[in-house]
Amino acid sequence: MPSLRGDWIEQHGTCPWLLSSASLLVFLIPSATRFLIRFQVFPRPWRSSGIKTGIGLRGRADPEYRSAMAKSKTHTKKPARAKKPVQAKKPAPGLSKPLDEPARFEIFKRFRDNDPHPKGELDYINHFTLLVAVVLSAQATDAGVNKATKALFEIADTPQKMLALGEDQVRDHIRTIGLFRNKAKNVIGLSEKLIAEFDGKIPEDRDALVSLPGVGRKTANVVLNIAFGHPTMAVDTHIFRISNRTGLAPGKDVLAVEKALDANVPEEFGLHAHHWLILHGRYVCKARKPDCPACLISDLCLFEDKTDML
Ligand code: SF4
Repeated sequence: MPSLRGDWIEQHGTCPWLLSSASLLVFLIPSATRFLIRFQVFPRPWRSSGIKTGIGLRGRADPEYRSAMAKSKTHTKKPARAKKPVQAKKPAPGLSKPLDEPARFEIFKRFRDNDPHPKGELDYINHFTLLVAVVLSAQATDAGVNKATKALFEIADTPQKMLALGEDQVRDHIRTIGLFRNKAKNVIGLSEKLIAEFDGKIPEDRDALVSLPGVGRKTANVVLNIAFGHPTMAVDTHIFRISNRTGLAPGKDVLAVEKALDANVPEEFGLHAHHWLILHGRYVCKARKPDCPACLISDLCLFEDKTDML
């Protein structure tokens, strides 16, 4: 006699007990697991090994899971990039404390005794060619400028002649000098302006000079000093360095050094001070390795890193 189980197997092709056991396993295991976790029989996996491990067990809709997720976001959030510490402004290279007045006087006295009539090293014929030469000397050596201007000044020593020569010709004459394209443009521009506004003459006034193309404060100071005898301080890289190293006129930028020199250079040395300082910086107090053993003011200079005496 066929059994009920046998009929079932025949009809459904599987054992009913096996099917029931499988169903029980499918429905009971997750429920049991949830129960055990809820009552903390098992540790919640996402608490110890990361939030994603909880997804399969509790699901994203679970409030506890979502709160854990939110917490985890705050924990795993990239920390804000730390602000760069504000760097203290670097002092000017070799900045020294200021020299006292007797020392400053003694320095210039020694410069004068050594070279009573210092001269700049740029070649020029008149005030106009002086101005042009100084404009061309920016970021170039005096020797390089002299080489280029020798032929140029022979044919164009006035603003009118320079303008007649034209920008292309000027450019050809000075192409061995750095930034020659821009400088040629400025030479023509300043010639035009001198003719149009200053009757072709070089003005004896700083504001008027700096209104010319290519003329900055330093160039104006050089022209005022050499052409008109003003005790101006044309602070270039050499003067800036020496003023700070020695303590003659410490300052963080060229304008500060210029003002300090105006205040600190004894009046009787004002006219030649900038030449003495430039020449001293060019040949003795050099940027990389100052020749302190040969320096005639080494006993007065306050520079802390003097090179060794022989
Ligand atoms: S002692 Fe040295 S650092 Fe000072 S001015 Fe002379 S060369 Fe320059």
